[in-house]
Amino acid sequence: MLEKVLVANRGEIALRIIRACRELGIRSVAVYSEADRLSPHVQAADEAYLLGPAPSSESYLRIDRLIEVAQRAGCDAVHPGYGFLAERAPFAAAVEQAGLTFVGPPASAIEAMGDKTAARRRMIDAGVPVVPGMAEPAEDAATALREAESIGYPVLLKAAAGGGGKGMRVVHEPGELEKAFAAASNEATNAFGDGRVYLERYLTGPRHIEIQVLADAHGHTIHLGERECSIQRRHQKMIEEAPSSVLTPEQREAMGSAAVAAARAVGYRNAGTCEFLWQDGEFFFLEMNTRIQVEHPVTELVTGQDLVAWQLRIAGGERLDLRQEDVVLLGHAIECRITSEDPDNGFMPSTGRIRLLEIPAGPGVRWDGGVAEGVEVSLYYDPMLAKLIVHAPDRAQAIDRMDRALTELRVVGVETSVPFHRRVMREPDFRAGRLDIRYLEKHQDVLRREPGEDLLGAVSVAAALLEEEHRRRRTAPRTAGGASAPASRWRDMGWRSGP
Ligand code: ADP
Repeated sequence: MLEKVLVANRGEIALRIIRACRELGIRSVAVYSEADRLSPHVQAADEAYLLGPAPSSESYLRIDRLIEVAQRAGCDAVHPGYGFLAERAPFAAAVEQAGLTFVGPPASAIEAMGDKTAARRRMIDAGVPVVPGMAEPAEDAATALREAESIGYPVLLKAAAGGGGKGMRVVHEPGELEKAFAAASNEATNAFGDGRVYLERYLTGPRHIEIQVLADAHGHTIHLGERECSIQRRHQKMIEEAPSSVLTPEQREAMGSAAVAAARAVGYRNAGTCEFLWQDGEFFFLEMNTRIQVEHPVTELVTGQDLVAWQLRIAGGERLDLRQEDVVLLGHAIECRITSEDPDNGFMPSTGRIRLLEIPAGPGVRWDGGVAEGVEVSLYYDPMLAKLIVHAPDRAQAIDRMDRALTELRVVGVETSVPFHRRVMREPDFRAGRLDIRYLEKHQDVLRREPGEDLLGAVSVAAALLEEEHRRRRTAPRTAGGASAPASRWRDMGWRSGP
């Protein structure tokens, strides 16, 4: 078993890892940038070290400094979380070279899955279905044009080194290809220092369904069912659930077996996720994320397994004493990503100090957060503040439970994605499970505030007061005296601010 783990991350995932360490009796070491001095993950760990004065995310990317801290603090392992260095093979290799255990897959598996065309070739060899398309990057636009003819339009140009939806372009007809090729290649060069692009068939209404995999160091690999992540905005996931409302048990088994084969093909170890696109009962491998994912809690709730604890136990050499037939899915789980973005204003990032935070509770509600009252939300980091996750006996009840939990959530100081999530939970197509990755394109209504929309909930008086004050400050005309209008929220609550 590991004894002391350096958590090379911040925010909710750092806190999540620290919690797992504590339950397993492993000591935890946090690192932080100057901007994160007051963050909950720093308070929660057994020890914490400042990475450097730079407030930006660069602090968390300094491999030499992270390894130096791990050694100085007497750690025997490093957990990378997600984002930052989690999928950088050189980081995994440097950790191992320093005599520490990397809580994740071998560097060779990260590398094998990091290049999309190389990964596609490996998957084809392993018998895993991939989206029809090229197995090598296209040499030039003319080659791409010839390939597109045989794949059939529409096609999707993708960066071989891709990630985060960068370097992707949909091409509907031959006339568009040359320009799109140059644009995708440029974008890929800027983002990854690697301009190689390739083509695959563009699926017009697929669902994003992914399989959670666990593999120990003793050759045992299993899957823990799927997560549906089709509610996306600009290829970024917003809402995830488990299980998917479309998979039959047979399809789950077929997809699960494909994911296990994919993991085995690259000598995978630890927790990983195989992403697939699903359309009309067919599924295609997209990529493997060689780390813990943001949306892992929905799998934890329906399987009853602690994925982060498994990551630590597997890294410590323990056997995964869980057979495939032991994995049973119970009920339905949904996760909403609570971000500091204003959904009524094009998801514009919102910054400021969190003045009040009321966290939902009650049956079947889980909060994985990385912020607290008093914390300053800046533009330096990812806007995700927390994840709200619910579990219920079935999907309909899970949706109602999420809707209820969202009404209990109050964040004052920054705008959040909460109003958007509440609208989705009430939208008929979502409720009926009629969704695909274009859901938001087709449902612009959930992106708009309805006149008179009731966003009140089980809100405390303290929250109502602070919210009102916050709103007044933002909208008050800059005139002397400035007596503002009666507090609308007080009236909504049946209170009166005056006679
Ligand atoms: P990245 O690594 O940049 O995130 P992915 O290959 O994981 O790229 O794809 C990101 C998202 O783009 C998917 O979740 C899906 O919404 C969309 N996408 C990717 N490939 C296709 C395709 N062939 N057809 C339609 N949509 C796709």
